[in-house]
Amino acid sequence: MAGIEGKVVLVTGASSGIGESAVRQLAARGARVVAGARRTDRLERIVADVRAAGGQGTYRALDVTSLEDFQSFVAHAESAFGRIDVIVNNAGVMPLSPLEALKVDEWNRMIDVNVRGVLHGIAAGLPRFLAHRSGHFVNVSSIGGHRVIQTGSVYSATKFAVRAISEGLRQETDRVRVTVISPGVVESELADTITHESTKQMIEAFRKIALPADSIAAAIAYAIEQPDGVDVNEILVRPTAARS
Ligand code: NDP
Repeated sequence: MAGIEGKVVLVTGASSGIGESAVRQLAARGARVVAGARRTDRLERIVADVRAAGGQGTYRALDVTSLEDFQSFVAHAESAFGRIDVIVNNAGVMPLSPLEALKVDEWNRMIDVNVRGVLHGIAAGLPRFLAHRSGHFVNVSSIGGHRVIQTGSVYSATKFAVRAISEGLRQETDRVRVTVISPGVVESELADTITHESTKQMIEAFRKIALPADSIAAAIAYAIEQPDGVDVNEILVRPTAARS
Protein backbone atom coordinates (compact mmCIF):
# COMPACT_ATOMS: atom_id res chain seq x y z
CA MET A 1 0.00 0.00 0.00
CA ALA A 2 1.61 3.28 -1.08
CA GLY A 3 0.80 6.80 0.06
CA ILE A 4 -1.03 7.81 3.21
CA GLU A 5 -4.68 7.28 2.31
CA GLY A 6 -6.20 4.25 4.05
CA LYS A 7 -3.10 3.37 6.08
CA VAL A 8 -3.67 2.53 9.73
CA VAL A 9 -1.19 4.75 11.59
CA LEU A 10 -0.62 4.39 15.33
CA VAL A 11 0.86 7.44 17.05
CA THR A 12 2.24 7.41 20.60
CA GLY A 13 2.41 10.61 22.61
CA ALA A 14 -0.57 11.85 20.62
CA SER A 15 -2.07 14.05 23.33
CA SER A 16 0.08 17.13 22.57
CA GLY A 17 2.85 18.62 20.45
CA ILE A 18 4.26 16.65 17.54
CA GLY A 19 2.09 13.57 18.15
CA GLU A 20 -1.15 15.55 18.20
CA SER A 21 -0.13 17.41 15.08
CA ALA A 22 0.78 14.14 13.32
CA VAL A 23 -2.61 12.64 14.18
CA ARG A 24 -4.48 15.67 12.84
CA GLN A 25 -2.37 16.01 9.70
CA LEU A 26 -2.30 12.32 8.77
CA ALA A 27 -6.06 11.95 9.36
CA ALA A 28 -6.69 14.98 7.15
CA ARG A 29 -4.73 13.16 4.44
CA GLY A 30 -6.83 10.00 4.70
CA ALA A 31 -4.94 7.87 7.22
CA ARG A 32 -6.94 5.89 9.77
CA VAL A 33 -5.30 7.14 12.94
CA VAL A 34 -4.98 5.45 16.32
CA ALA A 35 -3.92 7.89 19.05
CA GLY A 36 -2.24 6.77 22.26
CA ALA A 37 -1.07 8.61 25.40
CA ARG A 38 -1.95 8.73 29.09
CA ARG A 39 -4.18 11.84 28.99
CA THR A 40 -7.28 10.32 27.41
CA ASP A 41 -9.39 13.47 27.85
CA ARG A 42 -7.13 15.14 25.33
CA LEU A 43 -7.12 12.15 22.99
CA GLU A 44 -10.91 12.08 23.08
CA ARG A 45 -11.06 15.73 22.01
CA ILE A 46 -8.46 15.29 19.23
CA VAL A 47 -10.18 12.22 17.81
CA ALA A 48 -13.56 13.97 18.01
CA ASP A 49 -12.07 16.80 15.92
CA VAL A 50 -10.69 14.26 13.42
CA ARG A 51 -14.10 12.64 13.04
CA ALA A 52 -15.93 15.97 12.84
CA ALA A 53 -13.66 16.86 9.91
CA GLY A 54 -14.65 13.62 8.13
CA GLY A 55 -11.57 11.60 9.11
CA GLN A 56 -11.27 8.19 10.70
CA GLY A 57 -9.68 7.73 14.10
CA THR A 58 -9.79 6.07 17.46
CA TYR A 59 -7.79 6.34 20.68
CA ARG A 60 -6.74 4.27 23.63
CA ALA A 61 -4.96 4.98 26.91
CA LEU A 62 -1.31 4.05 26.48
CA ASP A 63 1.67 4.13 28.79
CA VAL A 64 4.59 3.19 26.56
CA THR A 65 6.64 2.03 29.55
CA SER A 66 4.36 -1.02 29.73
CA LEU A 67 4.76 -3.70 27.04
CA GLU A 68 1.31 -5.09 27.90
CA ASP A 69 -0.20 -1.65 27.38
CA PHE A 70 1.49 -1.34 23.99
CA GLN A 71 0.27 -4.78 22.95
CA SER A 72 -3.28 -3.81 23.94
CA PHE A 73 -2.89 -0.57 21.95
CA VAL A 74 -1.95 -2.55 18.83
CA ALA A 75 -4.81 -5.00 19.46
CA HIS A 76 -7.20 -2.04 19.77
CA ALA A 77 -6.01 -0.70 16.40
CA GLU A 78 -6.49 -4.11 14.78
CA SER A 79 -9.97 -4.54 16.18
CA ALA A 80 -10.93 -1.03 15.04
CA PHE A 81 -9.42 -1.14 11.55
CA GLY A 82 -8.39 -4.76 10.87
CA ARG A 83 -4.67 -4.10 10.36
CA ILE A 84 -1.76 -1.87 11.28
CA ASP A 85 0.56 -0.21 8.77
CA VAL A 86 2.67 2.36 10.62
CA ILE A 87 3.74 2.90 14.23
CA VAL A 88 4.99 6.39 15.04
CA ASN A 89 7.04 5.98 18.22
CA ASN A 90 6.86 9.61 19.29
CA ALA A 91 6.18 9.64 23.06
CA GLY A 92 9.05 11.23 24.95
CA VAL A 93 10.09 13.25 27.99
CA MET A 94 13.00 15.66 28.42
CA PRO A 95 13.69 16.58 32.05
CA LEU A 96 17.13 18.09 31.38
CA SER A 97 19.54 18.73 34.25
CA PRO A 98 23.26 18.61 34.99
CA LEU A 99 24.40 15.17 36.06
CA GLU A 100 25.66 16.59 39.38
CA ALA A 101 22.03 17.34 40.32
CA LEU A 102 21.64 13.54 40.58
CA LYS A 103 18.05 13.48 39.40
CA VAL A 104 18.26 9.73 39.12
CA ASP A 105 14.49 9.23 38.96
CA GLU A 106 14.35 11.56 35.97
CA TRP A 107 17.23 9.73 34.27
CA ASN A 108 15.33 6.49 34.70
CA ARG A 109 12.10 8.08 33.46
CA MET A 110 13.82 9.21 30.24
CA ILE A 111 15.25 5.73 29.71
CA ASP A 112 11.85 4.15 30.40
CA VAL A 113 9.82 6.39 28.10
CA ASN A 114 12.29 7.35 25.38
CA VAL A 115 14.12 4.01 24.98
CA ARG A 116 11.98 1.25 26.48
CA GLY A 117 8.88 2.93 25.02
CA VAL A 118 10.31 2.66 21.50
CA LEU A 119 11.44 -0.93 22.11
CA HIS A 120 7.96 -1.82 23.36
CA GLY A 121 6.51 -0.37 20.15
CA ILE A 122 8.87 -2.56 18.15
CA ALA A 123 8.05 -5.62 20.26
CA ALA A 124 4.32 -5.06 19.83
CA GLY A 125 4.41 -4.21 16.12
CA LEU A 126 7.28 -6.11 14.54
CA PRO A 127 5.71 -9.60 14.65
CA ARG A 128 2.68 -8.23 12.76
CA PHE A 129 4.82 -6.41 10.23
CA LEU A 130 6.98 -9.49 9.62
CA ALA A 131 3.90 -11.69 9.25
CA HIS A 132 2.41 -9.26 6.70
CA ARG A 133 5.79 -8.68 5.05
CA SER A 134 5.29 -4.93 5.29
CA GLY A 135 5.10 -2.16 7.84
CA HIS A 136 6.76 1.05 8.89
CA PHE A 137 8.28 2.32 12.14
CA VAL A 138 8.74 6.07 12.40
CA ASN A 139 10.87 6.67 15.49
CA VAL A 140 11.24 10.19 16.84
CA SER A 141 14.79 10.97 17.95
CA SER A 142 16.14 14.52 18.13
CA ILE A 143 19.01 16.80 17.22
CA GLY A 144 19.97 15.67 20.73
CA GLY A 145 20.47 12.26 19.15
CA HIS A 146 23.32 13.76 17.11
CA ARG A 147 25.07 15.97 19.60
CA VAL A 148 25.30 16.45 23.35
CA ILE A 149 24.87 19.71 25.24
CA GLN A 150 25.39 20.35 28.94
CA THR A 151 22.34 19.20 30.93
CA GLY A 152 21.41 16.92 28.02
CA SER A 153 23.59 13.85 28.70
CA VAL A 154 20.87 11.40 29.57
CA TYR A 155 18.30 12.82 27.14
CA SER A 156 20.89 12.62 24.35
CA ALA A 157 21.81 9.11 25.41
CA THR A 158 18.20 8.06 24.96
CA LYS A 159 17.95 9.78 21.58
CA PHE A 160 21.28 8.31 20.36
CA ALA A 161 19.77 4.98 21.42
CA VAL A 162 16.67 5.59 19.29
CA ARG A 163 18.92 6.09 16.27
CA ALA A 164 21.03 3.01 17.08
CA ILE A 165 17.98 0.79 17.55
CA SER A 166 16.39 2.12 14.37
CA GLU A 167 19.51 1.54 12.29
CA GLY A 168 19.87 -2.02 13.61
CA LEU A 169 16.21 -2.72 12.89
CA ARG A 170 16.55 -1.29 9.39
CA GLN A 171 19.48 -3.60 8.64
CA GLU A 172 17.71 -6.67 10.01
CA THR A 173 14.53 -6.37 7.95
CA ASP A 174 14.11 -6.04 4.20
CA ARG A 175 10.33 -5.56 4.20
CA VAL A 176 9.84 -3.21 7.09
CA ARG A 177 10.60 0.48 6.62
CA VAL A 178 12.33 2.32 9.44
CA THR A 179 12.51 6.12 9.60
CA VAL A 180 14.12 8.33 12.21
CA ILE A 181 12.79 11.86 12.60
CA SER A 182 15.26 14.18 14.34
CA PRO A 183 13.72 17.55 15.12
CA GLY A 184 15.47 20.63 16.38
CA VAL A 185 13.56 22.87 18.74
CA VAL A 186 9.77 22.60 18.30
CA GLU A 187 6.80 24.25 20.06
CA SER A 188 5.33 21.69 22.45
CA GLU A 189 4.95 20.87 26.11
CA LEU A 190 8.28 19.02 26.20
CA ALA A 191 10.19 21.62 28.26
CA ASP A 192 7.47 21.40 30.94
CA THR A 193 9.13 18.17 32.08
CA ILE A 194 12.24 20.11 33.22
CA THR A 195 12.35 20.52 37.01
CA HIS A 196 15.91 21.92 37.33
CA GLU A 197 15.31 25.69 37.59
CA SER A 198 18.38 27.19 35.89
CA THR A 199 18.16 24.60 33.11
CA LYS A 200 14.51 25.51 32.59
CA GLN A 201 15.44 29.19 32.14
CA MET A 202 18.29 28.35 29.75
CA ILE A 203 16.01 26.17 27.62
CA GLU A 204 13.22 28.77 27.56
CA ALA A 205 15.62 31.21 25.90
CA PHE A 206 16.79 28.50 23.49
CA ARG A 207 13.17 27.69 22.52
CA LYS A 208 12.32 31.20 21.27
CA ILE A 209 13.01 30.11 17.68
CA ALA A 210 10.94 26.91 17.99
CA LEU A 211 9.24 25.49 14.90
CA PRO A 212 5.52 24.73 14.90
CA ALA A 213 4.81 21.03 15.53
CA ASP A 214 3.12 20.91 12.10
CA SER A 215 6.51 21.13 10.41
CA ILE A 216 7.57 17.87 12.05
CA ALA A 217 4.22 16.21 11.29
CA ALA A 218 4.88 17.12 7.64
CA ALA A 219 8.23 15.31 7.78
CA ILE A 220 6.51 12.24 9.24
CA ALA A 221 3.90 12.39 6.47
CA TYR A 222 6.65 12.68 3.84
CA ALA A 223 8.28 9.47 5.06
CA ILE A 224 4.96 7.61 5.14
CA GLU A 225 3.78 8.71 1.71
CA GLN A 226 6.79 7.26 -0.16
CA PRO A 227 6.28 4.06 -2.18
CA ASP A 228 6.82 0.80 -0.26
CA GLY A 229 10.28 0.27 -1.76
CA VAL A 230 11.50 3.68 -0.59
CA ASP A 231 12.66 3.92 3.01
CA VAL A 232 13.43 7.46 4.13
CA ASN A 233 16.06 6.60 6.74
CA GLU A 234 16.28 9.88 8.62
CA ILE A 235 15.00 13.43 8.42
CA LEU A 236 16.59 16.27 10.40
CA VAL A 237 14.44 19.38 10.68
CA ARG A 238 15.75 22.51 12.38
CA PRO A 239 14.59 26.12 12.51
CA THR A 240 16.37 28.15 9.85
CA ALA A 241 17.57 30.42 12.64
CA ALA A 242 19.21 27.54 14.55
CA ARG A 243 22.98 28.13 14.91
CA SER A 244 23.83 24.70 16.29
P1 NDP B 1 5.11 17.02 24.27
O1 NDP B 1 5.51 17.08 25.70
O2 NDP B 1 4.15 18.04 23.77
O3 NDP B 1 4.57 15.57 23.92
C1 NDP B 1 5.06 14.40 24.53
C2 NDP B 1 4.02 13.33 24.40
O4 NDP B 1 4.54 12.13 24.99
C3 NDP B 1 2.72 13.67 25.12
O5 NDP B 1 1.64 13.35 24.27
C4 NDP B 1 2.72 12.74 26.34
O6 NDP B 1 1.39 12.34 26.61
C5 NDP B 1 3.52 11.57 25.80
N1 NDP B 1 4.07 10.73 26.85
C6 NDP B 1 4.93 11.05 27.84
N2 NDP B 1 5.16 9.98 28.62
C7 NDP B 1 4.41 8.96 28.11
C8 NDP B 1 4.20 7.61 28.46
N3 NDP B 1 4.81 7.05 29.52
N4 NDP B 1 3.38 6.86 27.69
C9 NDP B 1 2.75 7.39 26.63
N5 NDP B 1 2.90 8.66 26.24
C10 NDP B 1 3.72 9.44 26.98
O7 NDP B 1 6.48 17.09 23.45
P2 NDP B 1 6.86 16.90 21.90
O8 NDP B 1 5.67 16.83 21.05
O9 NDP B 1 7.89 17.91 21.61
O10 NDP B 1 7.60 15.48 21.96
C11 NDP B 1 7.39 14.45 21.03
C12 NDP B 1 8.72 13.80 20.71
O11 NDP B 1 9.53 14.71 20.01
C13 NDP B 1 9.52 13.35 21.94
O12 NDP B 1 10.05 12.06 21.69
C14 NDP B 1 10.62 14.39 22.01
O13 NDP B 1 11.77 13.90 22.64
C15 NDP B 1 10.84 14.68 20.54
N6 NDP B 1 11.52 15.93 20.25
C16 NDP B 1 10.95 17.13 20.58
C17 NDP B 1 11.61 18.31 20.35
C18 NDP B 1 11.07 19.63 20.75
O14 NDP B 1 11.80 20.65 20.73
N7 NDP B 1 9.79 19.73 21.10
C19 NDP B 1 12.93 18.33 19.68
C20 NDP B 1 13.43 17.02 19.37
C21 NDP B 1 12.74 15.88 19.64
P3 NDP B 1 0.76 11.99 28.05
O15 NDP B 1 1.45 12.87 29.05
O16 NDP B 1 -0.69 12.30 27.84
O17 NDP B 1 1.01 10.52 28.23
